Amino acid sequence: MSKKTHSFQAEVAQLLHLVTHSLYSNKEIFLRELISNASDACDKLRFEALDRPELYEDAPNLEVRVAFDKKARTLTITDNGIGLAQQEAIDHLGTIAKSGTREFMSRLTGDQKADAQLIGQFGVGFYSGFIVADRITVESRRAGLPPAEGVRWTSTGAGDFEVETLTREQRGTSVILHLREDAEEFLNGWKLKQVIGKYSDHISLPILMEKEEWKEGEDDKGGEMVPTGEWEAVNKASALWTRPRKDITDEQYVEFYKSISHDFEPPLAWSHNRVEGSTEYTQLLYIPAKAPYDLFNRDHKGGVKLYVKRVFIMDDADALLPSYLRFVKGVIDSADLPLNVSRELLQESRDVKAIREGSTKRVLSMLEDLAKKAAPPADGGDAEVTDVVDKKEEQEEGAAADEAGKYARFYAEFGAVLKEGLGEDFANRDRIAKLLRFASTASDSANVSFADYKARMKEGQEAIYYITADTLAAARNSPQLEVFRKKGIEVLLMTDRVDEWALNYLTEFDGTPLQSVAKGAVDLGKLQDEEEKKAAEEAAESFKPVLEKLKEALKDKAEDVRVTTRLVDSPACLVVQDHGMSMQLARMLKQAGQKAPEVKPVLEVNAGHPLVKKLESDTAHFDDLANILFDQALLAEGGLPDDPAAYVRRVNALLA
Ligand code: ADP
Repeated sequence: MSKKTHSFQAEVAQLLHLVTHSLYSNKEIFLRELISNASDACDKLRFEALDRPELYEDAPNLEVRVAFDKKARTLTITDNGIGLAQQEAIDHLGTIAKSGTREFMSRLTGDQKADAQLIGQFGVGFYSGFIVADRITVESRRAGLPPAEGVRWTSTGAGDFEVETLTREQRGTSVILHLREDAEEFLNGWKLKQVIGKYSDHISLPILMEKEEWKEGEDDKGGEMVPTGEWEAVNKASALWTRPRKDITDEQYVEFYKSISHDFEPPLAWSHNRVEGSTEYTQLLYIPAKAPYDLFNRDHKGGVKLYVKRVFIMDDADALLPSYLRFVKGVIDSADLPLNVSRELLQESRDVKAIREGSTKRVLSMLEDLAKKAAPPADGGDAEVTDVVDKKEEQEEGAAADEAGKYARFYAEFGAVLKEGLGEDFANRDRIAKLLRFASTASDSANVSFADYKARMKEGQEAIYYITADTLAAARNSPQLEVFRKKGIEVLLMTDRVDEWALNYLTEFDGTPLQSVAKGAVDLGKLQDEEEKKAAEEAAESFKPVLEKLKEALKDKAEDVRVTTRLVDSPACLVVQDHGMSMQLARMLKQAGQKAPEVKPVLEVNAGHPLVKKLESDTAHFDDLANILFDQALLAEGGLPDDPAAYVRRVNALLA
C-alpha cells in the first residue's frame, strides 16, 4: 500500500482539539493511557493465543518497553501484543467506536475545567498522546500476519492521518511521540519512572526501561545519564488486586481506580476481598463519585472487568453484577471459570451466579457503611462546646464531615439507578429499600429514609404515605396533600422517573404498608375522629343527587365521581383506582411513545367548596362547571385537558 491520506471522523477532530486544549494541566496522563492500551493489546494476544498458540511466534513473554531519544526528541512506547492490521489502524485510530460519542460532545461546555472532567469520564485513550506530541507515528504488525504486512500510521493530529505499508519483523505496536517543546520533561528516565510508578504500577506485565548510568563529561563539561543497553522492569508487574490489602496504599487504590475507569475524581469507596468457598475469586469494587454521562442509555455497559487467574477475559462483564449496580467499577478475578468463557456461557455459569450474589451483597454493604456514616451522631455530638479546639480533632471532624457527605453525593448521582433494584433484585429488596432517600413534606432536603419516616409517624397512623409527581414543586403543591398537611402527617415526595415503577414492587416497609395518596380513596383510619367521619358521611348523603348528575355529565372522562375528605382548599382532585397505573406514569409512557392503557381517573370533589356548592344552585351552567372542575383537577396534577380550547371557552363563558 502506498502512502494514503485519510480524514479523521468529525468527532475525533473535535476530541483532539479538546484533548490538547483541556488536558494541558494534566499532561502526564498520556503515559497511563498509552501503557494501558499496550497492556490491553497484550491481553488480547494472550486471549486469542488460547486457540492459536502460534500467534506468540518466538516471543512468548509479553511486555511493554518505554524508550526515549533526547536528540530526536521522541518517546516510544512499544508492546509485543496483538498489533494492528492496516485496516484496523485506519478504523481504530481514526474514529471513535464508542457509542454515545455525539451525546458526549454535545455536553461539552467550552469551560476547560468542566470539559476536562467530562473528558476524564469519557476516556481519551490513544488521542491523549497529542497532549505532549505534535506528531505521532504508530508502527505496527498484527500477530499472525507476515512482516511485509505491517503498517505505519502518522498524524499531526490536525484533521487527517497518513497510512502506508511497513515491513516490521517484530509483532505488536510502537507508538512514537514526537514531543512538543514544552513536553521535554518526559525525555528523562527518572521522570518517566516516577509517572509509571504513579499510574501504571498495577499493570500486570513488566514495563521495561533501559538502565542508565552516569557518565562524567570530558574536560569539566558536566556529565549526563547514558543508556547501558540493559533493560529492567520499572513496575511491580503484579496485578494490584492480587496483592495483600496491607501492602496497598489508599493512593494506589485510587490510582488503580482512575486507570480502569478513566475517571479523574477519586472514588467514594472501595472494597477489596478474596472470597473463598465453593467458588473462589477476588473482588475489587469501587463506587464512583460521579455518574457517567450515559448511565441511563439502554446500552450502557457495566464497569466490571473479568479476569480468570489473572488473565484478562473481558470488559463490561454484565453478568457479574445486576443492572441496577451498573455504576460500580472494578475487577473480578475468578479462579474457577474456564479461560475461554464467552458472554453466553457467563450467563449460565453457576460460578458466575455465586460471584454475582457475593458481589451484590458486597456493594450493598459498602453503601450501608456510607449511609451509616451519614447518620447524625446519636448522642447529639456537638452538645459540648469548648473554646480550645485541638488541631487534630478539628482535622478529624473535617474528615468525618467529608465521610458524612459521601452518601448524599452517592445518592444524588446514583439513587435513581439504585431504585431499579426494587424491581430487579427481589432477594435484596429490603436492603435496597433501607438505602432509599426521599424528599418529604417534613424535610427540605431529599434525605428521608423509610426508617426516619416511620420513627415520625403519628399515633394511629397505619401507612407510609407518598405521592409521585413530575417535579418537587408539583408534588408539594398537590391538592391531594391538603388533608395530610392539615393533620400534620408527613408525606414522602417522589419525583424520579423510576419512582412510580419501582414503588410498584415495594408494598410495605418493615411491616408498614406504603400508600400512594393519589391512589384509591383516602382512608386515614384512626387518624380521623368519629365526628369528622360522621360529617363526611352526611355531606356525601346530601350531595348524592348532584353526584349522580356529575357522573352522567363526565361519564366519558371519569371512571367515577365521589365526595372526599382529603381536600381542604381545593374543589376537586383526580385519583386512580387502588392498583391502577398512575396518571403520571401513563403520561410518561405516552411521551416515550410506548403503549399505555387509557387511565380513566376518579374525580373526587370537596363538598364544602363554594365552586362545588355552585353545582347545586347554578343548574344552567351545570355542564360547563362539571367539565371545568374536571379539567382543573387535571391541570393541577400536571396533565392537560383533552380539548384545551373547549376548557378555555367554558372558563371564559363563566367569567363573562
Ligand atoms: P480504547 O482503548 O478506549 O478503545 P483508544 O482511542 O485508546 O480507545 O484506542 C482505540 C483503539 O485502537 C483500541 O480499541 C485498539 O483497538 C487500538 N489500539 C490502540 N492502541 C493499541 C496498541 N498498542 N495495540 C493494538 N491496538 C491498539
